[in-house]
Amino acid sequence: MKLLPLGVGDAFASRWYSTSLAIEHDGAWLLIDCPHPIRKMLREAGESSGVSLEVGDFEALVLTHCHADHCSGVEGYLFFEHFVRQRKGPLAAHPEVHEALWPQHLQAGMSQLLHADGCVSRHEAGDFISPIALTEHEAVQIGPFSVEIRRTIHHIPTFALRISAGGCSIGISADTSYDEGLLDWLFEADRVVHETNYGIHTPYQALADLPDERRDRMWLVHYPDDFDLDASVIEPLIQGRLYDV
Ligand SMILES: [Zn+2]
Repeated sequence: MKLLPLGVGDAFASRWYSTSLAIEHDGAWLLIDCPHPIRKMLREAGESSGVSLEVGDFEALVLTHCHADHCSGVEGYLFFEHFVRQRKGPLAAHPEVHEALWPQHLQAGMSQLLHADGCVSRHEAGDFISPIALTEHEAVQIGPFSVEIRRTIHHIPTFALRISAGGCSIGISADTSYDEGLLDWLFEADRVVHETNYGIHTPYQALADLPDERRDRMWLVHYPDDFDLDASVIEPLIQGRLYDV
């Protein structure tokens, strides 16, 4: 698998885009979270990594939760799929994320369309989204990827991911407080991408205190603007750099 971080920052980042990841296996791609401006993020990460990626190229968008720094690009993503690609956007999430996404986030901007003849059409989530329900009970296959989820400790329903393909696997913490049970679950994967930040997020020091065996398999994302990249004892992912998992 390959991993391309499109953004590595938090909700308040001024140095980087908000955290979003593209994952590849055998020519197929998954998009993990979708902040605005997702097309600009794809273009810039593509330019620095030599990878050509566009909205509509993904097997699915996997959404961890409905905070804007993770989902603010979904309206534009789905409108691009609708108007340009003329298909429904495959969107994978836990049912609680699906249930909140339309009425609490997308409906205000997507429920009506004005047409050239002056007619207004009314729309529901099903007009734009091809939903894939992720479950905590079993892995769900999306293209070549097997996707498992686990609820994290966060303000709103949020789900960490374990993604496997071609005998390789990666765990992605999503937003979470420090959670040893989640860490044990994530570290069943070969590599782990973990968030770190202030407040209820996972403190850097808690991750820095992990055994070497875990720190060496971990990458950091969702770090604040003042995070000291050079001093970190865990490798921070760099926006726009292509990684082998
Ligand atoms: Zn969040």
